[in-house]
Amino acid sequence: MIEPRVVTIDSKKPWKHTIIMWWIHGDEKSWFEVIERLIKELIVDTWKVTLIQAHLEAKDKNQRQIEENLNRCFGVPWTSLEHILARHIEICLDQADCLLDIHNTVKNESPRFTVLEEPKLAKLFNVDKATFGLLNMYGNSSCGYMVAQGKEAITLEAGWTETNPVDNMKFAYDAAINFLKYTKNIQQEEVYYEKPEALTFDYLYRNSWVFTVAKAFRDFTELKEGDLIGMDGDMEVRAQNDGYLLFANNYSEPNSECFLFGHKEKAN
Ligand SMILES: [Zn+2]
Repeated sequence: MIEPRVVTIDSKKPWKHTIIMWWIHGDEKSWFEVIERLIKELIVDTWKVTLIQAHLEAKDKNQRQIEENLNRCFGVPWTSLEHILARHIEICLDQADCLLDIHNTVKNESPRFTVLEEPKLAKLFNVDKATFGLLNMYGNSSCGYMVAQGKEAITLEAGWTETNPVDNMKFAYDAAINFLKYTKNIQQEEVYYEKPEALTFDYLYRNSWVFTVAKAFRDFTELKEGDLIGMDGDMEVRAQNDGYLLFANNYSEPNSECFLFGHKEKAN
């Protein structure tokens, strides 16, 4: 097993110990290496930061995972390689105050968005959409694990890398730097962007049989009540309300996370 690569700079300063993590999923693109280099060039001895490359074995094989989704393995008993990795990472998470977990997508035209629970953090990222509810639903994700401890955590979905890799890399790097400003590790004022559209996701569909989507849905496709989302075996699965669809995919294994359904945040 390849252990997570962890770099910690602990100045013991009073500001927030911040983790920036990537490669929870090994098939997300390799420009993270460039970001790590750029961040390392900035490191000074006043930082209180940990950089984590999470799943290097999956990354070396260009696979999302080896046995199961590492981002569902935090705080649960050991049954797989990913659980052992999660135990290593939890030691860091337990010592830190906040986490920025950067992902990207292998899915065409997926937008950039954040997954978080604390509304005040949403404006730190130059994204169109901020999603709420997921970290409470996914308590065994890296950020769910932090939020359950009352800590600040953001999953940044940095978009699809194929269209413009340089632009994407810059976006993820800028996001990390702004977060380091917010946590006072970089002694400059953080930037606040226009408030992204807030969506709350509170419904997760798990299949009983083979689940097949009705079509290839883009993330955040807006649906009306009754619209067909897919087939679970012979059973039609339709939108129960007007709302937004996220992460809809085909799954043959029962009890998979087939899709999420959400709505506009009323408080927005
Ligand atoms: Zn990911």
